[in-house]
Amino acid sequence: MRTYLGVTASRGLAVGPVFRLDRAAPTARIAGLPELETARLNAALDLAKQELDELQAQAAPSDRDIFLFQRMLLEDKSLLEDMRGHIAEGSEAADAVEATGLQFAHRLRNVQDEYISQRSADVLDACQRVSAILDGNPRGTPILTEPSILVADSLYPSDIVGMDRNLLLGLATAAGSSQSHAAIIARTMGLPAVIQLGRDVLADCSGSMAALDADNGRLILNPDPQLLNQLEERHRCTVNLVSGDLLLRPCRTADGTRVYIMANCTAPDDIEAAMAMGAEGVGLLRSEYSLLSGTPPTEEQQYQYYKNCLLAAGGRPVTVRTFDIGEEWAPVWLRVPMGPNPALGLRGLRFCLTQPELFRMQLRALLRAAAQASLSVVFPMVGGPEEWDAAMAQVELAKEELRERGEAFRENTPFGCMIEVPSAALTADVLASHGCAFFSIGTNDLVQYTCAADRAEPEMQQYYRQENPAVSALVQAACDAAERAGIPVSVSGLTAANPYLACTHVRQGVRTLSMSSQSFAAVRSQLARLDLRVPAPGPAAPRLPARAEPALAGV
Ligand code: PEP
Ligand code: MG
Repeated sequence: MRTYLGVTASRGLAVGPVFRLDRAAPTARIAGLPELETARLNAALDLAKQELDELQAQAAPSDRDIFLFQRMLLEDKSLLEDMRGHIAEGSEAADAVEATGLQFAHRLRNVQDEYISQRSADVLDACQRVSAILDGNPRGTPILTEPSILVADSLYPSDIVGMDRNLLLGLATAAGSSQSHAAIIARTMGLPAVIQLGRDVLADCSGSMAALDADNGRLILNPDPQLLNQLEERHRCTVNLVSGDLLLRPCRTADGTRVYIMANCTAPDDIEAAMAMGAEGVGLLRSEYSLLSGTPPTEEQQYQYYKNCLLAAGGRPVTVRTFDIGEEWAPVWLRVPMGPNPALGLRGLRFCLTQPELFRMQLRALLRAAAQASLSVVFPMVGGPEEWDAAMAQVELAKEELRERGEAFRENTPFGCMIEVPSAALTADVLASHGCAFFSIGTNDLVQYTCAADRAEPEMQQYYRQENPAVSALVQAACDAAERAGIPVSVSGLTAANPYLACTHVRQGVRTLSMSSQSFAAVRSQLARLDLRVPAPGPAAPRLPARAEPALAGV
């Protein structure tokens, strides 16, 4: 038995024989006349494009863009010019393709944007396809003859798509990255995958039986039967009981009530992966993650980021939360005054209101992006109607600025409010009457502020209780206010990802739950057993008065 530790790219457990993918070594290459090499190159490019068309047709809809992108690369003017330039200088065609591919991949790898830099693998994949054709070893899809775990140095999307899915148990690579398209496809297909296991695994794995314990980022060669039993037992208990197929069907409770399962995301690639897992939209985009680079983004950069997020959601609705910056969480280029208790300090909307220029730049980018597809905006950490009104005044100013610039934007973009502070839950009726279009209940903070227990403080965890009846009463108050006002309400805190509490929220009237895609299966499987016609077991949670009484004068 031997264990290799790596990094989880897609969770799950697979047990079976290893199939090691060896790429053919290049044959000896001798350059002919440049005209002849150019003609060989053109023929190989045509064949490679045909292969990519076929792969595109076989791929799941969410993965087709990968092959479309590679096909477009093979038509890229500057790439072709470079290949032909190498040939004109005396290179053999396959050498010219490889040299050009390496140069392009290197350039992409050095781009600051992680998504773009990860696309260097696509450049290499496309160019290797062409050079393999020129070498006379066209890159067929590996043929599996029995269910196997595929182990390779690194994997390209085209290695996976087109394989018999029934025979592919899991993926393990010596190198690789969790942002690569191969990893995205593994998540899309629900295949366990572990990357960065180190090169030794390649020498060791041939002919072995293996357990790919992707939940714990490891590959175990020739595991002993006792360990195998333990792994399988743990996997059965922790992981979803729902098949991938079911994830793509509309989610309903046992009595047929429709519940919308949305994803909490931060960027286009996790949106893409969540959509592939059956998300019906993005319920919460934590936009402050887009500020992580070392410099403040321009309005144009923010606009492009939101557009890419909408594109990744493929037409499904996206709710973007404006920057939830605070003392404990701020990008390096922004000075946020430090107080003694960050959780109770300046953060969320309150901080943004102290930075109107930064806030309006984000609002303008959002209003512009909303003209492209279904985008809503939600404010974090709203304390009550005064803060809401101040935020909406900035929205009006941002619209005015766009009008002056003659810029297109969506006039009636829906603006909503996170219900994370008890004072917001208790004034939810007033918030709705001030024009709030929807509520998103952020139970992570609502628990913190209701229980007076800092969510980041380990010693306070015993007081930080999601099941606290006071929290439940506040959630109910927000749901009731939403119903009276006829506006939607969702839950986007971690309670939505807890199968038991998700059912409680649905009983409270919530019909949209937003969570990370890893929790979809467990939540859906519990909701499928929930029957709203049967009263909840146990005592009912306390309910607050329907409407807050007018404040007592002089108290
Ligand atoms: C919440 O508070 O529940 C929430 C969704 O926001 P965050 O966890 O980002 O504070
Ligand atoms: Mg919050």
